[in-house]
Parts: sequence; C-alpha cells; structure tokens
Amino acid sequence: MNLTNEDESTGFESTVATTKLGSAVCKTVLPNVPLQSLDIIERSIQKKYRSELWSPFIRGLKEFELVKDGDKIAVAVSGGKDSLLLSKLFQELKRASKTNFEVVFISMNPGFNEINLQNLKKNLKHLNIPCEIYDDNIFEIAEKIAKDYPCYMCAKMRRGSLYTKATSLGCNKLALGHHFDDVIETTLMSMFYMGKFETMLPKLKSDNFNIELIRPLFYVEEKAIIKWVRNNGILPMNCGCTVAAERTSSKRRETKELIAQLVKNNPDIKKRIIQSTQNVNLEKILGWKDSNGKYSYLDKF
Ligand code: SF4
Repeated sequence: MNLTNEDESTGFESTVATTKLGSAVCKTVLPNVPLQSLDIIERSIQKKYRSELWSPFIRGLKEFELVKDGDKIAVAVSGGKDSLLLSKLFQELKRASKTNFEVVFISMNPGFNEINLQNLKKNLKHLNIPCEIYDDNIFEIAEKIAKDYPCYMCAKMRRGSLYTKATSLGCNKLALGHHFDDVIETTLMSMFYMGKFETMLPKLKSDNFNIELIRPLFYVEEKAIIKWVRNNGILPMNCGCTVAAERTSSKRRETKELIAQLVKNNPDIKKRIIQSTQNVNLEKILGWKDSNGKYSYLDKF
C-alpha cells in the first residue's frame, strides 16, 4: 500500500510504502526522483551531502582508527540503503585517501526472493560496485532450527558467514553498515529490555575469526542516508527477510519512535546518549563487569 505522510526521521514530506510483515509494518524508503547518473550520485557524497555523510564518515574513521595502511577490508553489502552508501563512501575514500588499503565488496544471499535479488544486482551495476554475491541459505536453516524466534540464529549465522567469506578473501577487516541511529537504539534497547548498559562499538575483534569488525557509519545519521538515497532516485532493498513474519520483534521500532518523540523537545538527545557511553563514571555505578568477572562498588567500600 502506498501512502503519503510526514516522515519523522527526515522531517520532509515523503512517499513511503508500508509492507505488511505479519503484525509488524515495515516502512519502505522510496525514491522521490528518477534514478540519477552515477556521476551525480557520486558527486553528491562529497558536495551536497558532505557535512551529513562524508564528514561524519571521516570523523568516525579518524577517531576510532578504522582504516590503516595495509588493511584489506571487506564491505558487507546487504542491499539496503546503509550498505550501498557505505560501499560508495569506501570507493570515494580509496580515490581521496593516501592510506594504502584494499577494499572488496561481498554480498551474502541468505535466500532473498527473486525481485529483491534482481533489484540488488541492478543497484550494484548502476552504482558501479564490483560486488561478489554468494549464496548461503541461512533463511531456510534459521527457519528450521529456530522456528519460534529465528532472528537471533539468523543474525548469528549471517555474521559468521560474512566473517568466513571475508577471511577466505584474505581480509583483516569486515565493514558493516550500522549507523548513528542504530548505535543509539541499541544502547537504549540494552537498558530497557536486557537490563544492561552497553553500546554498539565502532570496532571490535572477532572471538572466533582473525578479523576485526568495523562500523564506519558510526557518526552518520539515518535521516541523511535516507535523503541521499531518495534524492538520488535509488530504490534500496527495504526488507529482504522471508522468514520472520509475525515473529519479528517490534522493540526496535518502538525505541525508534520513542527517540523521535524525545528529539522534539531536546534536539541534542541523541548526542547526549552517545556521550553517556563515553563518560561512564565507575564511582557512581552499582556494578560492572569485564572479561575477568563481575564487580560491585561495595568491593572497595
Ligand atoms: S528479521 Fe529476518 S533477516 Fe532479520 S534477523 Fe530476523 S529472520 Fe533474519
């Protein structure tokens, strides 16, 4: 069903489609202009959207030292708006940077339907992203072994598959398209639903593979990515899942809506949430844990 409404995350009038996914309604990002030429799309990253896309991308790379000389980085392309942008940012970086690194693009097909797969191929071709698509029937396996709640198993297997592929290509880093809003939402969801304070880190080492996971979009806001996609006429893959149906959790959507409400009264609230993860005062916290164990503030009282 198509409808026109005010998109809270972008603040401008947008045409969106809603996809019924069981009881959950997925918001679909639709382009608002015809597909632009590759040249215009690429230039828009460094020109029109420089302050919203390029600058926060570079800020994240520098602050967290995500790309170094000698790196071989696999960019995971899911086909969604975030990974398409991430791929283009890395291509721009390769052109502009003096850092000597290699980048490859990989896309795991966990069992997309044919329409999504064709759209992914079309986008990769138009955007000139030389991406290897490989099959790994994760949707089917997740459905079989975790029928009631497949998401945990699916996400774990998808991550493992990408690590394996990236390692087989000789990569020492795997780049994922999580953005600023993913980080904020995950931090709050951790508190609200899991009773713990932790965040999504800009880089971390894999426990099982000799590879580092990096999140170069750490400071890039989702609303900027939506603008870039829509105003360049790109139709990203919006919901490739063929498994979850009514078992999809609505917690992330609820958290996203809550943050959008809070932002109305305090436009800086997202920045404050991120700052809180950088300013944990261990003298004013009841307990904490690390890989060695659990601690209480009473231990040294
Ligand atoms: S929503 Fe679908 S694709 Fe996402 S983790 Fe759940 S099963 Fe996997």
